[in-house]
Amino acid sequence: AAKRAGGGRYKLFEPHMESDAAWQLELQNALRGAIERNELALHYQPKIDVRQSRSSGVEALLRWNHPVHGAIAPAVFIALAERFGLIGKIGNWVIEEACRQMAEWAAQGLRMRVAINLSVHQLREDDLAGRIENALRAHGIDAGQLLCEITETVAMEDTRATQHTFDGLARIGVYLSIDDFGTGYSSLNYLRHLPARQLKIDSSFVSDLEHSQQARSMVGAVVGLAHALGLSVVAEGVETQGQRDILLAAGCDEFQGFFFARPMPASVLMAWLQARHPHDAGNGLAPTGAA
Ligand code: C2E
Ligand code: MG
Ligand code: MG
Ligand code: MG
Repeated sequence: AAKRAGGGRYKLFEPHMESDAAWQLELQNALRGAIERNELALHYQPKIDVRQSRSSGVEALLRWNHPVHGAIAPAVFIALAERFGLIGKIGNWVIEEACRQMAEWAAQGLRMRVAINLSVHQLREDDLAGRIENALRAHGIDAGQLLCEITETVAMEDTRATQHTFDGLARIGVYLSIDDFGTGYSSLNYLRHLPARQLKIDSSFVSDLEHSQQARSMVGAVVGLAHALGLSVVAEGVETQGQRDILLAAGCDEFQGFFFARPMPASVLMAWLQARHPHDAGNGLAPTGAA
């Protein structure tokens, strides 16, 4: 059976399970009914604006609470969902749930900017932009309040289908965030033409910052490049004060990582925001800028 990961947050899967057909089948069947059984949830991790030292928005991260195996990390089940053709349905649930949550926050006077992660399969969908537009409209949310994170590798996959989606998102006013930047091989020229507003430096560079001059140079160069293209820069996976200090000096705009806050359920996020900014009026928590 699966073992508890350190800290008890997630199950780690033993290597043999990757290839264990019975286990895969069990997970597949469980995942098929996960939405109906209400087992999916979004957790939210704040992005911290370095200059205002406050939350400028949150990233929605998917969690699957398996009735027997406990919380399963997206690194495990997103890949399964893609293989079994379930990612479309799950992705739609994420869009709907994020918009529902934004509307709930709005009703409490909180204009929260939310970023969702999109898979390559979703980008290849015929009418992803239309679907997102409908969800936004149904919940009365401004398109500018939603950000879509796509990995650099996916962003560079310049097919007619993805281009169609990028155009559609730009048309409705939803911007892209280029996730895990630095792990792919971007063409600068292509990056310039994406409707992107934000670039997220991959955590692998962040974790090397304190002992690698090369990582520091890389981050400096990426920040310069992003700013030249008019993109704001988020550093992801910030875990230490030392990393934060280097990133601040390098000119990063926003931080995200365990040093500031872990992903948390919406209810816990509200308490976190209130503890951090007790004197803010409700909608002052999310000033204008990129989510
Ligand atoms: P990502 O979009 O790059 O998200 C960042 C991941 O880093 C999250 O893992 C987050 O919990 C983790 N993280 C944040 N700060 C720290 C830190 O300081 N240290 C460390 N070690 N980790 C940190 P998570 O939630 O397990 O998600 C993993 C990946 O799964 C995400 O990477 C994203 O690619 C994918 N994912 C998550 N939710 C969704 C979703 O709704 N749809 C799709 N298609 N993919 C999703
Ligand atoms: Mg992301
Ligand atoms: Mg990322
Ligand atoms: Mg990442």
